[in-house]
Amino acid sequence: MSGRVYLDYNATAPVRPEARAAALDGLQAGNPSSVHYEGRHARALMDKARRDIAGFIGGAHEGLIFTSGGTEACNMAAKLSAAPAGGVQRLVVSAIEHVAVSKAAAALGLPVQTLPVTPHGLIDVPALATVLQDPTPALVCVMLANNETGVVQPIEEISAMVRAHGSLLFVDAVQAAGKMPIDVAALGCDALALSGHKLGAPMGTGALWARDGLVTPPHMQGGGQELGRRAGSENMVGILAFAAAAKASGDTLTDFAAMAAWRDDMEAQLRAAFPELEVFGAEAPRLANTSSFSLAGLSSEMLVMALDLAGISVSAGSACSSGKVSRSHVLDAMGVSDDLSKGVVRVSFGWASRASDAETLVETWSRLAAKQKSSEKIVAE
Ligand code: PLP
Repeated sequence: MSGRVYLDYNATAPVRPEARAAALDGLQAGNPSSVHYEGRHARALMDKARRDIAGFIGGAHEGLIFTSGGTEACNMAAKLSAAPAGGVQRLVVSAIEHVAVSKAAAALGLPVQTLPVTPHGLIDVPALATVLQDPTPALVCVMLANNETGVVQPIEEISAMVRAHGSLLFVDAVQAAGKMPIDVAALGCDALALSGHKLGAPMGTGALWARDGLVTPPHMQGGGQELGRRAGSENMVGILAFAAAAKASGDTLTDFAAMAAWRDDMEAQLRAAFPELEVFGAEAPRLANTSSFSLAGLSSEMLVMALDLAGISVSAGSACSSGKVSRSHVLDAMGVSDDLSKGVVRVSFGWASRASDAETLVETWSRLAAKQKSSEKIVAE
């Protein structure tokens, strides 16, 4: 990616050098289920990775199940219930959840209630209180940080309400991990999902952490790996890289937090040039690396393409729907007008970003936006 400015870390982070080195160890690893030396060595490496990743979120390592990524972890989480069985009779899913959560919830056949958000992208806490007046036990699904806006939810407040109700709380922390400190005990959640590639590991690895006493039915039949919770020989390359990326991310959280200054500066410059610029979620606590903004009358699709031709990679809203620019359900839930929603661009910084990347973005986006505004044809550089 040399010469390019990559500002799409919420879609995926470039693989960190530490993760690359660990992946090579994984390539040489045996099968952790084997009893011989190679198997035992692989098991030891995997156990250490499990402890490291569980430690990264402050959870017990026994509760961590390796998965193929965030999507699988979210799908497993949707089926969580309290041991020995049952308990959950409905799902309460925030309107801004990733489709990995909302579609998994919808597929279960249980009643699903949607939790609205405020215009700032925060969960409507009084609406949750109303939903929890119904004594029917629920699995409440609220993400820690949103992939499009970066808005961070008040999970501690939400978990206290859910716990008092006797229900369960699942937190999708796929975007938050590595971008802010995470401690499952402080959050008070029952389960939490992670994805390796958002942290700088290769794609295809993730984890579901669940507290003791929760069960999720095995969704694949086969061997007894992961204590019978997820069948199939483990992805040693991905798991070792995931642990290395988690460690590197955890060690550099302070650098990450400093990105908020570039982000705020970038938004201030854009606002100075275009006073009618709308920055989504700007009034709420946000991840330091994320900015989602728009100007009425612009086209995201054209902007993303023109920025790409100018050497800058950003996304038009949701990362997982990049490639086909569709309406953002997150902005819809926040009540953003059609005109603004159509022009949204999401910028997300990460471990290899520099302050100059933000400056390049400001300069190029401003020029392209001005051209679009004056209905000039965008010409690639
Ligand atoms: N949850 C959130 C909030 C996400 O942003 C994503 C991916 O962008 C996922 C879940 C799915 O993760 P994965 O790409 O590892 O399947």
